Amino acid sequence: MDHFLYKNGSLHAEDVALSEIAATVGTPFYCYSAATLTRHYQLFKDALAPMPNLVCFAIKSLSNVAVLKLLGDLGAGMDVVSGGEYLRAKAAGVPGDRIVFSGVGKTREEMRLALTGGIRQFNVESEPEMRALSEVAVSLGVKAPIAVRVNPDVDARTHEKIATGKSENKFGIPIARAREVYAEAAALPGLEVVGIDVHIGSQLTELEPFEQAFTKVAELTVALRADGHDIRRLDLGGGLGIPYTRSNEAPPLPMDYGALIARTLGHLGCEIEIEPGRLISGNSGVLVSGVIYVKNGEGRDFLILDAAMNDLVRPSMYGAHHDIVAVAEPAPGAPTLPFDIVGPVCETGDTFAKARELPLLAEGDLVAFRSAGAYGAVMASEYNTRPLVPEVLVKGDHFAVIRARPSFDEILKRDSIPEWL
Ligand SMILES: *Cc1c(COP(=O)(O)O)cnc(C)c1O
Repeated sequence: MDHFLYKNGSLHAEDVALSEIAATVGTPFYCYSAATLTRHYQLFKDALAPMPNLVCFAIKSLSNVAVLKLLGDLGAGMDVVSGGEYLRAKAAGVPGDRIVFSGVGKTREEMRLALTGGIRQFNVESEPEMRALSEVAVSLGVKAPIAVRVNPDVDARTHEKIATGKSENKFGIPIARAREVYAEAAALPGLEVVGIDVHIGSQLTELEPFEQAFTKVAELTVALRADGHDIRRLDLGGGLGIPYTRSNEAPPLPMDYGALIARTLGHLGCEIEIEPGRLISGNSGVLVSGVIYVKNGEGRDFLILDAAMNDLVRPSMYGAHHDIVAVAEPAPGAPTLPFDIVGPVCETGDTFAKARELPLLAEGDLVAFRSAGAYGAVMASEYNTRPLVPEVLVKGDHFAVIRARPSFDEILKRDSIPEWL
């Protein structure tokens, strides 16, 4: 469920018409709904309520500081994968003891930043990383709390570019070697073992791979405790999928995911951490774009939009589907036509959808890409010197620009011509 609905013939975000925002901000822009973000965060809190837990929002899915502030104020923790994301969480007022640092290639600089500013735990992914972290912690006179990310070798049955829990992926330590690696971690002077971490992929549409992974984590918890490690937290990563089409997808509900966690891991008495990104942010955002031209091609018509692959890369990168709807509500029974929906970038890959049925649209009309809140704005670029797409947050009948569109002046000023040229 989200809060993007037609009211008085026009698509709204909560109580604000998207056409009103477009008139003020111009197109394209991302628009997020505070009520939807809140609701999805709360679904996870409710699902995990029987167990001590921390829901850490995966910042990489949507990293605007205003969104992080909204979630942080609700009590959310944050999962960060870079020093930059760590600074975003701090800028949003999230205390260090609610920030988890993930990622396969943390630099010593990033480790120092987090150890100095405060951190709940590092999810470490390799032995060289453990040794580096221990050295940095010792040099600062502190101990770094860690969970080792284990790779349980399960097939997440999702898109190959976002599956992370198979043995051939670059992530984590093979679970078969975990005891040996934990023994080394415990012996390193700068580390304190606090838990186990696992994350098997993104956009999972079934619970079964989670069940396999969590069952292995339960066994490992018992084994590591027998080896003398104080395993008190289990970080289960993110990855729960969302429906991208209105019709035929029914990914698992957070409540059932929570029940699975309770059943497989609840008896261990650990604090449960999860790192959902997409399920909180995905359906909380739309990308609004204007029609530049309707072009009649041979055997097909093109809708040329002012949004392009640089603003929303998921269709060209993952072949992802986004529902695309007219912002002005079509009359019941209004005729539709199949359109190829494309952007202005000079690549054939700049295609959002093929033969998509839409009502008859004209130059200047608005369309909205649904489910664009996750991995949308964060992956945007300025390819073709198209200014970075702005972001807007709606709450009730308020809206505010939370990242402005840069001017061409600002863009050009970032380049410099060397004196010797
Ligand atoms: C990407 C990622 C997440 C979030 O995944 P979603 O599918 O957006 O829930 C969580 N944890 C880690 C380590 C990740 O890499």
